[in-house]
Amino acid sequence: MVIPKKFKKICAACGDVNPKINKEHFWPEWLIERTVTHRTSIRFGSKKRINPRAFTVPLCIKCNEDFGRELEGPVSRTFTDLETGCGISDIEAELLVRWLWKFEGLYWIFAHPEDIYTERYTLRKRVLQPLDDIRTILTLAISLVEVINPNFGDAPMGIDSWNEYSAVFVAGVFSRVAIMVLFRQFEPYVPPQFSLYRFSEHNAPDRDAKLFYPTIGFRDCVEAVNVTKNSALYLSHIHDLKARDRTAKLTSEYSGSGLEI
Ligand SMILES: [Zn+2]
Repeated sequence: MVIPKKFKKICAACGDVNPKINKEHFWPEWLIERTVTHRTSIRFGSKKRINPRAFTVPLCIKCNEDFGRELEGPVSRTFTDLETGCGISDIEAELLVRWLWKFEGLYWIFAHPEDIYTERYTLRKRVLQPLDDIRTILTLAISLVEVINPNFGDAPMGIDSWNEYSAVFVAGVFSRVAIMVLFRQFEPYVPPQFSLYRFSEHNAPDRDAKLFYPTIGFRDCVEAVNVTKNSALYLSHIHDLKARDRTAKLTSEYSGSGLEI
């Protein structure tokens, strides 16, 4: 993907003008290590293959540092807990959602340089702040993968969703974790291999208790990628339909150029 020139002077995540800009690895280093993709290349966007370490995106230093500390650090530990069967808490489930939105959002912003991300939040706010009221209508779906297929060469690392209007749905397979965030109403379209987690209310007392133990739904990573991709096609489509429907109902306060939460 070609990064539009605009983002040399404007931070794609917070919108600050003329901040100190840094290059951030689109794929975090911990994930590249975990998936052993540093020795190889991955498919991204188009059919072209790229080395994940070579793909950097410009962000202001503050966003870069805050994303690293608030998202990448905790999420890498959450991945370890997931892959070792330790389960995750409500707080960790929420972190995974915001982490997925970071990938999806950055990609969208670089692909739509003239549009605003969402009317309600900058990408920075959306991925660093706690989930708002949307949490009670969201579902996190996770399926673990038993083994990495040696023929695959490396572990999977990629987003498999294709929505253009919805800022909610994201699906992908990362290492031994197949994962989706979706509106709860679309749960019936999630493949049965996935375990579903519904978020508790804001003030639930046990938000840091381990309470979600996704099961191993896939024999290997090839099956996980295939099933996730296939179901994500339809799920992307219905999330987009919902987003466009909502946009059409909104009046002048919405410009219609951004993503719909
Ligand atoms: Zn920034």
